[in-house]
Amino acid sequence: MTQRILITGGAGFIGSHLAESFLQRGDAVYILDNESTGTRRNIEHLFSNRQLRFISGSIMDEAVISRLVGTCHYVVHLAAAVGVQYILDNPLESILTNVVGTERVLNACRDFEKPLFLASTSEVYGLQTHAPLKENDYCVLGATSVSRWSYACSKALDEFMALAYHQKQSFPVTIGRFFNTVGPRQSPAYGMVLPRLVDQALQNQPLTVYGDGQQTRTFTHIHDAVQAITLLTDNLQAAGDVYNIGGTEEISIMALAQRVLEITGSSSKIKLIPYSEVFSKNFEDMPRRVPDTGKLRAVTGFSPQCDLNKMIADVVADRKIKLSAGR
Ligand code: UDP
Repeated sequence: MTQRILITGGAGFIGSHLAESFLQRGDAVYILDNESTGTRRNIEHLFSNRQLRFISGSIMDEAVISRLVGTCHYVVHLAAAVGVQYILDNPLESILTNVVGTERVLNACRDFEKPLFLASTSEVYGLQTHAPLKENDYCVLGATSVSRWSYACSKALDEFMALAYHQKQSFPVTIGRFFNTVGPRQSPAYGMVLPRLVDQALQNQPLTVYGDGQQTRTFTHIHDAVQAITLLTDNLQAAGDVYNIGGTEEISIMALAQRVLEITGSSSKIKLIPYSEVFSKNFEDMPRRVPDTGKLRAVTGFSPQCDLNKMIADVVADRKIKLSAGR
């Protein structure tokens, strides 16, 4: 049976790849996107597919959400404020999108008893420094005066709401916590490090490494992230729980910048920039982020296929095309 899947935020980086993958296997896909950080350019190559419908609109619009959830079999809720820079620039809007918008999606899923996949983030682990992080580890968030933590807090609240709905057995909910997903179509415009460093290397500009560059991340290729979401959405037994979705190679941002230079062959220099020069003076970064993906593997058999060099190479190839088109 052809499934109809609603993807909120489907014109974004992750959503566009997921839509492509669902269409390829024969599902019908409805995309709802307000084109704030997403863009129809990410999905216009899919417009000729009659199984795709694109609705330009917001998850805040209860009538639209209700109509779409009512007509689809499964809901993948990706629409959210994304990117540290975007959240710092738009704090109130980001909180409301993440909390009120998600509540509206959850209410519609409850009304129509439709299963839901909710995208969350490794940001919820906050200031944790041990590795690897397990789903039941504490969320160590900073002070409310430090705006960055509003994102983690709003996504943690989304998780609480979603689990509460699941617990009341209104409908099945599965939650994925993404760890620094990267790949083609990710825009450098909202602060994400890899497309920014790659653009700088390709344009022979200094690579901007914030702080001392010793903070680490574990990047995930978009194709692996899509595979993980697909495995989770196909398996209703996975519902009612939270899963880390991430890669395997922990790397400092300084080492990442060096790797970008090697792969691009760029002669750019690396420039350390204090956080205070980029963000407000009370900015706090996450020192370390490494996922334990054992639970995801145990439930779905998932194991990531793409290493960091492939992630960087794919982003380089994509950014070369975009830069030559002036984007
Ligand atoms: N970062 C950097 N240079 C940049 C952009 C980001 O050094 O031009 C750092 C940022 O401070 C963080 C890491 O790279 O320590 C990952 O940043 P990103 O915004 O991509 O993701 P997140 O902070 O959400 O993990």
